[in-house]
Amino acid sequence: MRISRLDWGDFEIAGIADARPAPVDPCRSYPGTTTADWEPHRRWLTADGGFQPDLGCFLLRGPMGVVLVDAGIGPGPVPYLGDVGGCLMTALASLGVTPADVDAVLFTHLHFDHVGWACVPDAQGRPCPAFPRARYVVGASEWAFWSGGAKGVLAHHREAYARAIQPLADAGALAVVADGSSPVAGITYAPMPGNTPGHQGLRVESGGARALFAADLCHCPAQVAAPLWSHRSDVDPEAGRRSRLDVFAACAQDDTLLAFGHFPRGADLGHVRRAQTGWRWEPLGAAA
Ligand SMILES: [Zn+2]
Repeated sequence: MRISRLDWGDFEIAGIADARPAPVDPCRSYPGTTTADWEPHRRWLTADGGFQPDLGCFLLRGPMGVVLVDAGIGPGPVPYLGDVGGCLMTALASLGVTPADVDAVLFTHLHFDHVGWACVPDAQGRPCPAFPRARYVVGASEWAFWSGGAKGVLAHHREAYARAIQPLADAGALAVVADGSSPVAGITYAPMPGNTPGHQGLRVESGGARALFAADLCHCPAQVAAPLWSHRSDVDPEAGRRSRLDVFAACAQDDTLLAFGHFPRGADLGHVRRAQTGWRWEPLGAAA
């Protein structure tokens, strides 16, 4: 179980790795890249050159209550990822959080690795909300994409949607809110399309400091230095590139703390800094 923790202004942030599947060839995850392209980014690969992203989500505790940003891969086993299962509930317990403590679950988007724990089976095997008091929230564009059939996404994403999200909607437990709106006091959606058409980050401010939970804007820290690389799960790669360039420029300018669920724990929170050309990823505690 791997968790990163940070006291940040009025908030406590915990980055929870729900699971970490077996390494894969990074050139397969990033179509068009070569082994040589990855050489400058070896530190983000395994010893034998594999790409092994965390499947993470974030817990925020602060004045607005207890908020979960995304819901991991779920209990599994998930056949698409070698039957991996997640450990989110155990991780929450280790942080002193029960499912009934969670006030809100805010989805950045509805890919399968972000919705897994939304529903769990009850005693009769029927899916029911895993966080019984929580307000579950998704943005309007993202909801329109998935409820409209999610054209172009692979079957395992649609299966997760049917298992974990559709039952929420059927039970009236899923709030659909305007893109860019504030689902919880002090937290605001920030549209950044690409990974999905309605993909959004979440902005938080505390005492004049800014944080942005940027979800799947990037899947690997190498993409900060190479923002034109697109992960194979991006539904609209060109929109994703534009979103990265826009977010990096703005966040490097105003010193926003960034959080990425797929980055390895320990490097999942940090800053985008200007480099000689472009940008570089500076994990917290690793200031050059
Ligand atoms: Zn993801």
